[in-house]
Amino acid sequence: MLEKNDMIRLIEDAVTKSPYNNFRAMGNPEEPMWDSPIVGFAAGDDPYFRHYKDTIGEFYWLPRDVFRLGTGEEAEDGQLTVISVGFPQTVTTKKDQRNAAGMPSERWLYTRGEWEKLIFRISSDIVERLKARGVQAVSLDSIRTFSRQTSPKFGMASNWSHRHTAFIAGLGTFGLSDGLITEKGKAMRFTTIIIKGNVEPTVRPYGDHHAYCKFYTENRCGACITRCPVKAITRDGHDKERCSDYLEKIKHEIGPDFVRNSEYISGCGLCQSKVPCQDRIPK
Ligand code: SF4
Ligand code: SF4
Repeated sequence: MLEKNDMIRLIEDAVTKSPYNNFRAMGNPEEPMWDSPIVGFAAGDDPYFRHYKDTIGEFYWLPRDVFRLGTGEEAEDGQLTVISVGFPQTVTTKKDQRNAAGMPSERWLYTRGEWEKLIFRISSDIVERLKARGVQAVSLDSIRTFSRQTSPKFGMASNWSHRHTAFIAGLGTFGLSDGLITEKGKAMRFTTIIIKGNVEPTVRPYGDHHAYCKFYTENRCGACITRCPVKAITRDGHDKERCSDYLEKIKHEIGPDFVRNSEYISGCGLCQSKVPCQDRIPK
């Protein structure tokens, strides 16, 4: 089995040297779209995966379900390792987004609109590079049945949550706005790769799933509440339906032409910028 550090380097290379990781769509092919990734590892039989399935709904996948869907082969969860990869927004994108109010910045909207194509290509490349080094691997974002579902308990959900996986893999904890606060902040997107074989899991340097958010730990901050243009974040947390309605409005009514007249999914992410957890775990 490939050494853990070699795997991390392989993933960093696939992201930073990808011919797709740039703002070509915006006319800036020389400008990287995403910074160097953060990478965490979780055991396939970590009890959290079963806990999420039991809590979110029967449709939620275990690592072995993903492996079977991706390879057609059976494996026990204990034979698998789940790799979480976080893609931090760049300094330039975050600067633009900080200056935006009411409507997300153009750069941010491009990062969201280009995401599906980009992550399919980059995660497929990671899988191919791993296979070339003798590691059987599956990318979550390449599985066609990966889709939105309805959880009896939580409403909007998916067969798999990249952010919950990142939490299990030691990368961060949830904030009031539902974003994952990591060492590189909250302005970030995630993907998941599952491999056959056992790699030492990343130690979770936190006990609680809200450990990095000042609202939960010290009853202060709440900057994301005022940052949201449609009051989708309150002291009670994140209203996913309200947030989603605003994204639909950007897509079909108020967004720029390149979002409304394209296949782009719209984004917002104003709550991920101009807040103390934008770039780091808030002190
Ligand atoms: S802005 Fe403050 S309250 Fe909101 S998620 Fe970040 S730390 Fe928590
Ligand atoms: S993404 Fe936008 S609409 Fe949704 S909670 Fe954050 S700031 Fe509000």
